[in-house]
Amino acid sequence: MKQIPLVDLRRQYDRIKLEISVAMENVLTNSDFILGKDVDLFESEFADFVGVKHAVGVASGTDALVLALKACGIGPSDEILVPANTFIATAYAVSACGARPVLVDVRETDYNLDPDKLIGACTQRTRAILPVHLYGCTADMNAIREFAEKFGLLVIEDACQAHGARYGQELAGGMTKAGAFSFYPGKNLGAYGDGGGVTTNDDNIAKSVRMMRNYGQSKKYHHDIIGLNSRLDSLQAAVLRIKLKYLEEWNANRCQLARMYSEALEGLPITLPCAPASQFGHVYHLFVIRTERRNDLLSFLNTKGIGAGIHYPVPVHLHHAYESLGYKIGDFPVSERLSEEVLSLPIFPEMTHDELFHVVEMVKQFFGN
Ligand SMILES: *Cc1c(COP(=O)(O)O)cnc(C)c1O
Repeated sequence: MKQIPLVDLRRQYDRIKLEISVAMENVLTNSDFILGKDVDLFESEFADFVGVKHAVGVASGTDALVLALKACGIGPSDEILVPANTFIATAYAVSACGARPVLVDVRETDYNLDPDKLIGACTQRTRAILPVHLYGCTADMNAIREFAEKFGLLVIEDACQAHGARYGQELAGGMTKAGAFSFYPGKNLGAYGDGGGVTTNDDNIAKSVRMMRNYGQSKKYHHDIIGLNSRLDSLQAAVLRIKLKYLEEWNANRCQLARMYSEALEGLPITLPCAPASQFGHVYHLFVIRTERRNDLLSFLNTKGIGAGIHYPVPVHLHHAYESLGYKIGDFPVSERLSEEVLSLPIFPEMTHDELFHVVEMVKQFFGN
């Protein structure tokens, strides 16, 4: 039986194998493993890509969020508005700063933070909004920024699923005070291990993140602030420099696959992913459909060798980890319904059209077409 995984990293590696081994060999020869030359170069290349002044490499996307928040002065007693439909790390980062994640429901259209629901979540303690560009689709940034300006709030982007995603002419990670990226292997731009990055136009935020990621030191063994150890490895930076050159091409492949899926699945009793505000902004980190028969469709596809997945099966407020926030079932109805109905079909830049049509055939078979 034909096996089609949700993502296939091996296929991409096979295409860039030679470049990767040369780059890794160079790091090994130079032996500048920590904050070496490739980290510097990747940081400036990634900043150029996002169209910002600074990019700072850190150990993970979660750390990128934590350090961006801390550099913006977020700390205990602050409340940060976070969508209820996201990967748990968005909320964890807020908790890691000692602040409180205050959840906001998402929109039926793009599954991202609903700007109309921000007002209901605001209190005297609200300091910032942390929108997520989920699945590779940018959130409604104009509405979010307008709201933030009106109420004097900071905005920081969780761009961990949105490398190269656009909102009009703007790029994800470059639209607000700071952006946070993950370079986890499965992301649109992924390393061969953990990695992350903070993007910003603000010199002070960049400086502060740079210090905090490296024990809070201004120079060796002189520690000005309490920091931590959260650096991007030179080996990972070397991998990312190579992959960054292909990112636009890979994102274009994802978009083409998404278009083909959407055309081929038209007319079935499922909801297709929407086009974002600007038509070409989506980078389809995931191709997420919706159906009330989600669980049956998932098992059917899995028995057919198709690696469909669920992103995410539990909304943030219903995890045990967040019982203490005091939310209950019914508080975020859209996010709750999504958690029962979303299904991610396989998508990755190297997926063949034959594979895509096979997935489509199986989905059609399930619905009896
Ligand atoms: C992956 C991800 C993170 C966390 O990134 P890590 O590199 O795994 O720490 C945060 N937010 C979102 C939306 C993500 O998808």
